[in-house]
Amino acid sequence: MAQEIQHPRPAADWETRAWWEGCGRGELVLQRCNTCDIVQFRPRAVCAKCLSNDLEHFVASGRGHIYTFTVTYQNQLPPFREACPYVLAYVELEEGPRLMTNIVECDPESATVGMPVVADFQAVESKHGDVFAVPRFRPE
Ligand SMILES: [Zn+2]
Repeated sequence: MAQEIQHPRPAADWETRAWWEGCGRGELVLQRCNTCDIVQFRPRAVCAKCLSNDLEHFVASGRGHIYTFTVTYQNQLPPFREACPYVLAYVELEEGPRLMTNIVECDPESATVGMPVVADFQAVESKHGDVFAVPRFRPE
């Protein structure tokens, strides 16, 4: 049976720290632009639509659906080799943004476009007091 992908510790910087710390708490922390109201992912210093720097962070619902996906049957690079076959997907969050992620706790043959999913977090190595996790999704 395939093992879970063991993700490396993310390299957080000042733009992405709120995201990774949120994941460490089991939360998806997104950015909303207070000028044009768009919700964006990935985290940035400015709004990707209007370039305003008036952004706020908020905790998203953690729910979404599979926008598109592929099943990877061969990948010789660790840590993926032991996890084959696995589902690599774009999940569209309820709040709008899409993110590339894995679908876990799901038979790869049963994944479908539009399948409702919920965030699930894998803790990664803690360093310097940082508690980070990598978000994946599982069927709701
Ligand atoms: Zn904006």
